Amino acid sequence: MIRNMSARIPDSLQKKISQRLSFYDDLGVRLFYKDRGAGSNRESSTTESFAEPVNQQISHEESSLPKSTRKPEPPKPSQPAPRAATSFSAPPQPARTTDILPVSTGPSLFEAFDKVPDDSLPKIRTDLGECTRCKLHKTRNKIVFGDGSAKAELVFVGEGPGHDEDLQGLPFVGRAGKLLTQMIEAMGLQRQDVYICNVVKCRPPENRLPEKDEVTPCSPFLLRQLDAINPKVIVALGACAAQTLLETTRGISQFRGQWLEFRGRKLMATYHPAYLLRNPSAKSEVWKDLQKVMAVLGLEAKKGKSAEAGKSS
Ligand code: URA
Repeated sequence: MIRNMSARIPDSLQKKISQRLSFYDDLGVRLFYKDRGAGSNRESSTTESFAEPVNQQISHEESSLPKSTRKPEPPKPSQPAPRAATSFSAPPQPARTTDILPVSTGPSLFEAFDKVPDDSLPKIRTDLGECTRCKLHKTRNKIVFGDGSAKAELVFVGEGPGHDEDLQGLPFVGRAGKLLTQMIEAMGLQRQDVYICNVVKCRPPENRLPEKDEVTPCSPFLLRQLDAINPKVIVALGACAAQTLLETTRGISQFRGQWLEFRGRKLMATYHPAYLLRNPSAKSEVWKDLQKVMAVLGLEAKKGKSAEAGKSS
């Protein structure tokens, strides 16, 4: 019977399942996954639900691509508003953002995983190794793992390394990175006080958006980084980071500036600094978002710094 079933599973789905198994492997939960039985409806729906949300319907203001040709995503009034996080005094819960997940029916990709015991950034870096899990390894110069404090209360998650990051092996060191640094300093912090990483750790050619088969194998490492650091607040910079972490296809402008949850942590989505370089007038929106973050972290703005940060760059 199992042979008959596998004969009916199309090659593409079998490939997805095998990618998913590697994903679980990277998180050390393969046995848990296997126990559920490879042919269950639940598993196939999880595979599909993860396959759908990422990198679809990215709106113009969400993309960090310098020369994006994407058109703004029209609002979808029929969809419920993203669920704002109302209570964070409760014990950490996995992210349940089902009401902003138009596709997902099974458990969230990210919430399915327990914390890896005694995890640490060096261990995660070692496990990542000289990664060849996706095609981005063929064109990258350096893996951009992440940078900053392992004890940061605030983590910024971007999209993926660009040209400068790829050469230096450090996140956000190009033009957008300089603006991010100014934003961080405007919040009364230094770069070394926070942690900065990306959805994918290798540069997508021509700075295109990371593709699903690149995001999927990289996600366990991002997840482990976030769990190991255990920040109070995660700021998702731009649509790619926000949509990946929240597993939604909704345009970032529909939920930026609202408190959301990611695995029991507060998550704020805001526009990507690269978008701000092209649309400086959106800086005031981002500054409002960052001020909400500052309020939660008990930070005071550095004198003279504000949404004007980076205006000269
Ligand atoms: N843009 C990103 O999203 N990440 C970087 O590291 C640099 C630019």
